[in-house]
Amino acid sequence: MTAVVPGPAVSPHRPDGASSAGATSPDAACASRGELLQALDDLLEPARFKDYGPNGLQVEGKEQIRTVISGVTASLALIEAAVAARADAIFVHHGLFWRGRDGSNIGPVTGWMKQRLALLLAHDINLFAYHLPLDAHAELGNNAQLAIELGLQAFDGDKGRFGDQRLGFIGSLADGSSTTASVLAERIEFKLKRPVAQVSQRVGAIKTIAWCSGGAQGYFEDAIAAGADVFITGEISEPQAHYARETGVAFIACGHHASERYGAPAVAGHIAARFGITHAFIDIDNPA
Ligand SMILES: [Zn+2]
Repeated sequence: MTAVVPGPAVSPHRPDGASSAGATSPDAACASRGELLQALDDLLEPARFKDYGPNGLQVEGKEQIRTVISGVTASLALIEAAVAARADAIFVHHGLFWRGRDGSNIGPVTGWMKQRLALLLAHDINLFAYHLPLDAHAELGNNAQLAIELGLQAFDGDKGRFGDQRLGFIGSLADGSSTTASVLAERIEFKLKRPVAQVSQRVGAIKTIAWCSGGAQGYFEDAIAAGADVFITGEISEPQAHYARETGVAFIACGHHASERYGAPAVAGHIAARFGITHAFIDIDNPA
């Protein structure tokens, strides 16, 4: 779906000793806002997606960036942690602006929005946000990184994708073995360190596994149509429990936040390593 990304191995943390190859900034430990934006756009190709909000630079901060903090959501807690870490930029999956807030992409700058924006602007921190492009990236995205965490492997090429905008991944356990819904659910609870919601009346083994991070419960019917034996996503809504019981395809909801913790540090770490700048991921716990 996306071309193989050249460059150094992904480092989710400070890329100590990282090469600055590829950076055009005269200062090896510094990248300009424009360079970072271009590198992120080149990597994540936001123009290929129909999304719910603007991808890219959502809030303009200082021109030169030495420290990037990544996180799942541009919450006040994350912004406060970024300020404490003396960040010049924040990279997130869930930015501030979504279509539908009072019919615009921005909405009124009041309440929580005012608080978050005020803190970003007061500290001149850039906010980069990429939503669906971050889910989709074939190696560094949320679905690809969740697969590594859970020991899953997508089928090759387009056979390994399903659903709207081909965002869903489908494949099997990385070792090719079969399992059961209960064993898979236990594995996910162990890896993600949280309980999951499982609905299964499946008789027999599970071989074909579909997954899509976050609030992708609406992809369940597409996963069933694609031949999945189980679908893993972040959230469950009322209808999916019935579909699972009636089709025999198991459904496992493992947490919206928990399933989207891996793409942002992978992408921000990759880009930071390219420019030789500092990166750290800050996880703001969220039970949802
Ligand atoms: Zn999400």
